[in-house]
Amino acid sequence: MTITRADILAELGLTPQWVRRVPPIAPANPARVVVPSITVDPMVAPAMCSEPSAAAATGVEPAIAPATRTETAPVSLQRVDVDAAPRAARIAALTWTDFAADVDACNACGLCRTRRRSVPGAGDTSAEWMFVGEAPGAEEDARGEPFVGQAGRLLDNMLGAMGMARDRNVYIANVLKCRPPDNRPPAASEAAACRPYLARQIALLRPKIIVALGKSAAALLLGTDATIGSLRGRVHAYGGFPLIVTYHPAYLLRTPTDKAKVWEDLLLARRTVNAAADGDPGGVQSVA
Ligand code: URA
Repeated sequence: MTITRADILAELGLTPQWVRRVPPIAPANPARVVVPSITVDPMVAPAMCSEPSAAAATGVEPAIAPATRTETAPVSLQRVDVDAAPRAARIAALTWTDFAADVDACNACGLCRTRRRSVPGAGDTSAEWMFVGEAPGAEEDARGEPFVGQAGRLLDNMLGAMGMARDRNVYIANVLKCRPPDNRPPAASEAAACRPYLARQIALLRPKIIVALGKSAAALLLGTDATIGSLRGRVHAYGGFPLIVTYHPAYLLRTPTDKAKVWEDLLLARRTVNAAADGDPGGVQSVA
């Protein structure tokens, strides 16, 4: 499949409207895309965060349930936000220098009211490897850094086993830059509102491999509701960047017997990076 400039611009959010890409939509004239339905969602009303959050006002963090994310978190990609284009274009022009401040000022969904800190992403901004998780949890929300809780410690161990570290040839981001209350799965509207930020991070980093950690990251990046099990073991692509899918570290904490599968996936990722260095496209099997 040929990836056109229009495909890449669409990935960066430089289209008038944001629509689900699967099944593929290839209109002759994108300006004439027929939008099946438009949801006016109070979650994305402007200036949602003019009121101080409960946490900010009281200094007390809302009650936190234990990590409850599952591998079946639904991230539907069907929502269309007609006001998204100017914002997406602005985000698509961000540099690494402006990025974190822009995320911090974001009020595109209601999570800005309940978060303590935004969690834009962290690591080496010239890394070849990019890991994408679901959303910050309690510790990430408190520290403003991704994967610093229990799942993050496991991720660090996984990186260490590969001879890598989070600030050395690795960049870590999430689908959502703000914590959903009680660690609930991202809502479709939240994932859609945050999508231009992840697209911009990928465009700035130009990673040699994207590792989607868990169902939410795979769903958002590949536009599919397929299971992790069915997506593992092959090289996909997001906007021309190779992508592999593996289990989320939080899932591995509950199901440690699947660690061997994640190890296999990381080896596939490493082979893909090495193949690209040798000028081999790396056997990309599907293009998102
Ligand atoms: N889980 C995620 O998906 N991301 C984090 O940053 C932490 C836990």
